[in-house]
Amino acid sequence: MKQQTSAQSHAFGCTILGSGSKGNATVIHGPEGNLLLDAGFSAKELMCRLERVHVDPCSLRAILITHDHSDHTSACRIVSDRLGIPAYFMPETFCELSKCTNKVPTHKILITPGSPLDLCGIHVEPFSISHDTPAIAFTFTVRAHKIGFATDLGFVSNLAKAKLSGCDLLVLETNYDPGKLRASARPLTLKRRIAGKQGHLGNPDAMEALAELLSPNTRNLVFAHLSQECNDPALVAELAESRLTELQRQDVSFRIASQFEPLETFWLE
Ligand SMILES: [Zn+2]
Ligand SMILES: [Zn+2]
Repeated sequence: MKQQTSAQSHAFGCTILGSGSKGNATVIHGPEGNLLLDAGFSAKELMCRLERVHVDPCSLRAILITHDHSDHTSACRIVSDRLGIPAYFMPETFCELSKCTNKVPTHKILITPGSPLDLCGIHVEPFSISHDTPAIAFTFTVRAHKIGFATDLGFVSNLAKAKLSGCDLLVLETNYDPGKLRASARPLTLKRRIAGKQGHLGNPDAMEALAELLSPNTRNLVFAHLSQECNDPALVAELAESRLTELQRQDVSFRIASQFEPLETFWLE
């Protein structure tokens, strides 16, 4: 898999614009245009990051929303309305967004987990994950290449393991270190929510799941949605190194997504 900054002559790839509890957005590059996966920054910040990675906003054909939390939806309506592109989300997400003023885009399309769709020449498959609000993760497939993207999940269910198998590129949440979470000044109820089955994926559970998530064709891993207060990129890197060694998968490269800046584009074709 090549990593380049220009989208020219490539047909399928992924650029994470930023990931963490203060905002999430990713561009999925397809043969017939680009998709925006979540829009959890301000519209201004989102446009700046698109410019930084040389993605023309007019190349975006649709927005896919994983769940209603504001770190995934804050610019959804503005970007969707301004660019005149549809936003895809679940009916439950629509209900939650409808409770706030100005959060529902004019052009919305409701999707169901388990019902795939074809967008921009990409086979897009949403599937349910366990979180404290109805949430979905996605796989994106073009010909023989597959990207899996799963953040905001309390645990890696058998469904998630099945859906995320066979990915060339896997983006997986490593939200918190259990020790740092326990030692943090957060209220006990919040700590329990984060560490619960409907919360976020901690480092140990993510590392454990790699045994089943990595396929022979997996070449790249991205750890995402790290808590700034309760995690540390250096610690995740250390855990990943040792886990990949243990699994004899040193052929897999990994990166850690940042809240503050985009990662380089992963090109699969
Ligand atoms: Zn989130
Ligand atoms: Zn969330």
